Amino acid sequence: MTNNKKAKMNPTKKILFAMLIGLLVGIALHYLVPAGDFKQNILVDGVFFLFGQGFIRLLQMLVVPLVFFSIGTGVMQMRDISQFGRVAVRTLLLYFFTTAIAIAIALFISKLFKPGIGMDLAQASNSANSGADVAPPTLIETLVNIIPKNPIESLANGDMLQVIFWAFMTGIVVGRFATELKLLEDFMEVGNTFMMKVTSMVMKAAPVGVFALIARTFTDIGLGIVGPLLTFLGSVLGSMVILILLAYLPLIAISSKSSPSHFLKKIFPVYTFAFSSASSNATIPLTLSACDSLGVPREISSFTIPLGATINMNGTAIYQGCAVIFIANAFGIDLTFGDLVTVILTAVLSSVGTAGVPGSGMIMLSMVLSSVGLPVEGVSLIMSVERIVDMFRTALNVTGDVVATFISANMEKLIDKARYLSDEKPMMEEVDF
Ligand code: ASP
Repeated sequence: MTNNKKAKMNPTKKILFAMLIGLLVGIALHYLVPAGDFKQNILVDGVFFLFGQGFIRLLQMLVVPLVFFSIGTGVMQMRDISQFGRVAVRTLLLYFFTTAIAIAIALFISKLFKPGIGMDLAQASNSANSGADVAPPTLIETLVNIIPKNPIESLANGDMLQVIFWAFMTGIVVGRFATELKLLEDFMEVGNTFMMKVTSMVMKAAPVGVFALIARTFTDIGLGIVGPLLTFLGSVLGSMVILILLAYLPLIAISSKSSPSHFLKKIFPVYTFAFSSASSNATIPLTLSACDSLGVPREISSFTIPLGATINMNGTAIYQGCAVIFIANAFGIDLTFGDLVTVILTAVLSSVGTAGVPGSGMIMLSMVLSSVGLPVEGVSLIMSVERIVDMFRTALNVTGDVVATFISANMEKLIDKARYLSDEKPMMEEVDF
């Protein structure tokens, strides 16, 4: 029995293996099996869709109750609310700061790589500014919208900022009047434990889900489309690597006073999910578990991670920066320094409005483009690599949330150092059913 258990692959390896097989199967199907009913209807839109989307829906199913109960109980148990307030404000500032840095790096790198140059689409653009009707919400509107008109509706619609607000209120009131509201206190705690157990159960399906998602993407698109857009992809990935190497890792090393390799080891398993689901929201359960293994108290992460998944999008900001330069180059439009500053500001604001779901960064891109008068139809130029870029930007979005959370918790000396330095990995491997 023990030997049997030892022989089993650990969950992270299983998922990586599933990704690799998915990639190989996808590429083989794309190139070796002729297009037709079998490939399209039975595989791509049949089996792969069923297991891939099924898994994403399982994750999505968890998000609202998980966020509600984990923030609620976290705030409820927080003894020192002022300490919590400081961590929350610091994390928020870090979120905005890192997003601005991310997009500045992207603009700089794209200026170097010059993606899109020579495409000369100036003639094709007869409707520059056509996206001006995509009115960005003002800052005040965004702030007012955080307050739910009807909390039940917010929960039902999964409106994350409103759910976070309501969970926060619940946690404060139940924590403050714990004796009178004993029943509610127990309900929140039991609800929280229940959600953790459901999460662990769902994770058992991960390898199958991840396989199906990756296989579907690559059967559909193969690798061919990557070629023409290589400079664009190169700018996006290059900027991401620079952000990680020049900002994230040094920040983690300085703040933890130890090698960032512990951090990388613990965040790595989360990438597999971020990558295959392309959704920061769907990845929340895993991201929380990674924070646990990094020694961040749940009281903190249960607030900052769902918030980050909703408003902090460093990967998306990089994508938007590179896309702006790519599209400007393709249409032969020169951007002034002022335009670039506008792009930085709009992209930071738009990341607040970008939902942590697949493709939403692309939708918000039209807002950034129209802020500097670039043709919104330029988005179609990079559409073919959208899914691949989305996978990468989601992984970076999630990393950004964890980096900011870790640093602000560490500044308050709230990190459990022993746990951080331990070999513990995320994904709740210890739970058995
Ligand atoms: N898919 C990304 C995320 O969930 C958002 C985006 O489309 O950029 O983080």
